[in-house]
Amino acid sequence: MTGTASSTLLYQEATANVEDAARAIDMDQKVRRVLLKPMNELIVNFPIQRENGEHEVLQGYRIQHNNVLGPFKGGMRFHQGMDLNESRALATWMTFKCALLNLPFGGAKGGVAINPAHYGTAELERVVRRFTHALGENIGPEFDIPAPDMGTDAQTMGWMMDTYLNSRGPGERQNARRVVTGKPVELGGSLGRESATGRGAAYALRHLYGQLDRTLSGQSAAVQGFGNVGSHVAAAFTELNMKVVAIADISGVVYNPEGLDIAKLTLHASQHRGVATFDACDTITPEEFFALDVDVLVPAALESQITAENVNDIRAHTIVEAANGPVTAEASKVLEEAGLNLIPDILANAGGVVVSYYEWVQNKTSSRWTARDIDSRLRDAIWDASDRVWSIRNDRGCSWRQAAYIEASNLLQKVYRLRGIFP
Ligand code: NAD
Repeated sequence: MTGTASSTLLYQEATANVEDAARAIDMDQKVRRVLLKPMNELIVNFPIQRENGEHEVLQGYRIQHNNVLGPFKGGMRFHQGMDLNESRALATWMTFKCALLNLPFGGAKGGVAINPAHYGTAELERVVRRFTHALGENIGPEFDIPAPDMGTDAQTMGWMMDTYLNSRGPGERQNARRVVTGKPVELGGSLGRESATGRGAAYALRHLYGQLDRTLSGQSAAVQGFGNVGSHVAAAFTELNMKVVAIADISGVVYNPEGLDIAKLTLHASQHRGVATFDACDTITPEEFFALDVDVLVPAALESQITAENVNDIRAHTIVEAANGPVTAEASKVLEEAGLNLIPDILANAGGVVVSYYEWVQNKTSSRWTARDIDSRLRDAIWDASDRVWSIRNDRGCSWRQAAYIEASNLLQKVYRLRGIFP
């Protein structure tokens, strides 16, 4: 499907981010035109057998937005809302995220339009393997490198890698393991990849507080989403002595003004498919969640969660966009005008792709870095990008988001100027 009203709006917002940065840096028209359109768009329809013996035909997507900086790179999302426009928006953001972080990668995104909660493990394995098979030569270790995203995880990447390797000749297999990142450590994954996006978001917040000369210890936070990203954001905040008072996920919202025990909640959520039934807390509605009187609010689930409808309820002074596109353009404007700090997604959640790059390099060089080494490199990468965004924002008096897009666009434009546009 091309798109619903909400995914079409999402893609319009992604192209508006590009247009906005192009105007700000007076970008060459030809570069602007190139960056406004994905390079390649792939739709695959493939059958899988359900447990009851019936066959069902699923639709999968892979959008390869741009590869001027390096191989296409981006997650694979399994979600019922996945479609062409959502993939286009997410792929566009990946190009700018990789450019902002100075990674030798381009941008891509894809996935399958299913609700993974409605499929058993064996069925999901068949979905992953058939999807990978359908993608065929359209992914590859030096061409397009998937990673986990919403509804997918390290196991998904393990199946994807195994399926891809089985389509290679025996002599090529070991070298092709880096066709995916975010795979289990035992299969060549990197230490620190699973927590990287959440820890990266916490490093971005630490940088902001450092610049503002404020202390994070004792600050209260609410986190929406308790999957890969949200659970590690909450754990990293706890390490910083922050008080995580509320967590929202698909099952409900839990709230304790004294602070939630994140280690216990993580165990509970894994055993009960969500946070909702956790004791030692109150339950509140999603509307009340966004209106909580906290210092830091972290949307780490879906896009378009803070919109014109609920933006005026927000009482937090800092928002960390750990999810992709969680705050609409309209709402961002309101928050900016109200003087809130908003760490934009292409910076706040870049930790995942940064450590994916480290995984890819380790696979390429048959090496293994320590967890401590990876974490300190991740911190330096996020702080370096944050420094650059901070100084553009101060120089130009623009929003955080504009500053991040300007920095990324400057690099993309420079590379196009040096290479020229073929022929
Ligand atoms: P995930 O599937 O591991 O977790 C998603 C979480 O969101 C779950 O806790 C789920 O219950 C919750 N959720 C879903 N629908 C909800 C709703 N309507 N209300 C409240 N909560 C809801 O996904 P993830 O990997 O943590 O990804 C979350 C976001 O972060 C996505 O926007 C993704 O694109 C982005 N992101 C992920 C990574 C990564 O490394 N996984 C990297 C960069 C960005």
